[in-house]
Amino acid sequence: MRKYLQKALSLVLCAAALLGTLYFVDMPDVSAADPVVIVIDPGHGGKNLGTDYLPIPEKNYTMLVALYMKEQLEKYQNVKVYLTHSEDIDMSLEERAEFARQVDADFLFSLHFNMSLPHTLYGSEIWIPSTGTLYTRGYSAGYEFLTQFTEMGLFNRGIKTRIGSKGDYYGIIRECTARNIPAIIVEHCHVDHINDIGYMQSAELLKEFGVRDAEAVARYFGLTSRDGTVSYRDYAPLAIPTPAARVYNDTTPPDYVNARLVNYDKTGKYATVQLGAADSQSLLQYYAYSTDGGLTWSPFLPWDRTKETMTITVNMGYGSKSSLIFKVSNIYDRETQSNVLSLNG
Ligand SMILES: [Zn+2]
Repeated sequence: MRKYLQKALSLVLCAAALLGTLYFVDMPDVSAADPVVIVIDPGHGGKNLGTDYLPIPEKNYTMLVALYMKEQLEKYQNVKVYLTHSEDIDMSLEERAEFARQVDADFLFSLHFNMSLPHTLYGSEIWIPSTGTLYTRGYSAGYEFLTQFTEMGLFNRGIKTRIGSKGDYYGIIRECTARNIPAIIVEHCHVDHINDIGYMQSAELLKEFGVRDAEAVARYFGLTSRDGTVSYRDYAPLAIPTPAARVYNDTTPPDYVNARLVNYDKTGKYATVQLGAADSQSLLQYYAYSTDGGLTWSPFLPWDRTKETMTITVNMGYGSKSSLIFKVSNIYDRETQSNVLSLNG
């Protein structure tokens, strides 16, 4: 009897194994697999307001977007979503990373909004870990976020590392790296720039940030929605090679910026200039010009990243302005100025 049972059991196990194999090949049962554990970190909180350039501090915006992101992500199968905090509390960066470790996070996404001291920068950017597969995973996921934001019309300020005296400069990335958890900082846009402010002032666009953040994560992890209508199972996120050594941020300005006057329309005071620039270490990002010898500058304008030269027409305006100078910056906001063009007449 016992032997018979053993035989029957082994037959059942064989059949199950066979069926199981076929089953998994044809249709992976994602609900049975380990869920993807996502930790969303709403930047700042409590006494830590984040940037308070606007009447409403950054911490309010990050929480709002985090809640929308969580709601949207939970529409997918096989995913467990946590917030590092959902109350308006002080929480250290170490505590946030430790929370992620305790829930066995596959990834931590720290949500932020940006401000620059001179109030001249605009667009979205992603900060990622500087080493090993944390770098590659950070880069691939960050690429998905920036793809979403550029679709919303935001300027792409790039995917970057930043190194300080203790390793990665940003504490949330450093603390997560210490726990071997991939973590990126998502800077959605700049709260202090005319190009981006509309995104902060629109309830729909703030919600869209959260929905887009979730979309980026769903694509990166190849998730399928609970209702089965959306699936990124076959979607391949950007793959990049794992760096052998730490990836440092560029601390030097563009190698050169050269301005050549192509034409000057004296009546309309239009100067047409061919502007050439190059940076061997990182991508070029913005350019600006000055008609008063560099005392004041135009707003930053997007540099065409596909080109090393751009043809630019500048109106010199009223008065006797006769000099024109340009500057070009890279994605690390390091600037190089051009030669001075003299316009006579
Ligand atoms: Zn912030």
